[in-house]
Amino acid sequence: MITEYQRIRYEFQVYLWKFLRFIKVPLCRGFDDICFNIGEKRRQRTSYVDDELNWCFLCDDCMKGNQEYWDDMWNEYYSQVL
Ligand SMILES: [Zn+2]
Repeated sequence: MITEYQRIRYEFQVYLWKFLRFIKVPLCRGFDDICFNIGEKRRQRTSYVDDELNWCFLCDDCMKGNQEYWDDMWNEYYSQVL
């Protein structure tokens, strides 16, 4: 159950995050939550036809989550295909 305080706090964080991006602070895009670390353009484990989609802008922590996520997805995919 999310309290009113948590909701407002989260909305404020999202607002602040968008504002910082707006003034060109290279913030991480976040993996499963908003993230205030500085991000970096990295290649993720996808193979979209549109190569732009194979790149993400994340910090070290979120990149770890992203990699684990795609590793799981690929494992699941191969276990169904093979
Ligand atoms: Zn991050």
